[in-house]
Amino acid sequence: MVDDDEDDFFILKSAFEESAFSFSYQLNFLPNGQELMDYLRRKGKYSDPAVSPRPSLILLDLNMPRKDGREALSEINRDPDLREIPVVIFTTSSAEEDKVLTRNLGAIDFVTKPSSIDDLVEILKGNSDKWFRGC
Ligand SMILES: [Mg+2]
Repeated sequence: MVDDDEDDFFILKSAFEESAFSFSYQLNFLPNGQELMDYLRRKGKYSDPAVSPRPSLILLDLNMPRKDGREALSEINRDPDLREIPVVIFTTSSAEEDKVLTRNLGAIDFVTKPSSIDDLVEILKGNSDKWFRGC
């Protein structure tokens, strides 16, 4: 998960625990698009693949400092290797222009953050076949 609000990561973790998926998973948190690109390109503190494994799925917020989700997605989309990683937009935005833009940049889904953990659990379970195929 890439999000400038770490509270949303703790909510996501709780939702994963409640979902009780049968596959094993590891959730990693990054605070903005710049850290995501450094992570994916194994720069600096992300150089060790054992510590920074390639993600099976990226949950990407849109509005973040340093590099926002639109810019990061655009960079991922231009990289033949990174564009294979499925990206789901996970944001407070519900703007049609963001939906169109991110779809055109290859995002597989666009989710407006729900207000409750129960709703998030339903979203995770409802999309698990599609999102976690590689897990
Ligand atoms: Mg944000």
